[in-house]
Amino acid sequence: MMLSTGMERPVDELGRIVIPKEIRRSFGLETGTRLAISVDGNRIILEKSAGTCAICGATEDVKVVDGKGLCASCIEKIKKSF
Ligand SMILES: [Zn+2]
Repeated sequence: MMLSTGMERPVDELGRIVIPKEIRRSFGLETGTRLAISVDGNRIILEKSAGTCAICGATEDVKVVDGKGLCASCIEKIKKSF
């Protein structure tokens, strides 16, 4: 589900953008929280980086699922087990 917040922020001369405080609070973004950046057509998507896979500890291709980090290969294994 995509929700527009109606908020707009300018990109500064170094390419930085301020994420509004309300959004930072609701996503639990603190100083140093890493965001994974991906692109979908004309959208720039920011996802809270999970850091490491909760199952195998991998740091590549980690996605957040219900607040837990899971890597692509563990997600595949889980899918196959159903
Ligand atoms: Zn894993």
